[in-house]
Amino acid sequence: MLPVVEIDIGPCINCSLCRRACPTEAINYFSTGKRTHVVDKELCIGCDICVKVCPMDCIDQDMEYKPDPVKLESAKVKARAFAKRQRGVRVARRERAQRAKEKVHA
Ligand code: SF4
Ligand code: SF4
Repeated sequence: MLPVVEIDIGPCINCSLCRRACPTEAINYFSTGKRTHVVDKELCIGCDICVKVCPMDCIDQDMEYKPDPVKLESAKVKARAFAKRQRGVRVARRERAQRAKEKVHA
């Protein structure tokens, strides 16, 4: 398990790619004043997905933060549910594409 992450809002361009990719919905944005993305560390499981999708390389590990084991476990449950939903979406997409292909060849 990697440490939780935090966003350096200086270089952040508020593209929301990290927020959309996060399996635990740990990244929020606030639109009061300057729109700003912030990581809710209690929901972060340190999966590194947001770090990989960030085009500005402005998400980094917070080595100081010590996660609460109970909250971490509940965030992992959320991540597993997200992964299951994503798998369902992929299967449905594949089935739709297959049906469309069969229609063309019918
Ligand atoms: S490391 Fe994973 S869980 Fe944490 S904010 Fe990034 S995508 Fe979300
Ligand atoms: S992906 Fe990077 S640049 Fe985009 S909102 Fe997240 S932290 Fe900011």
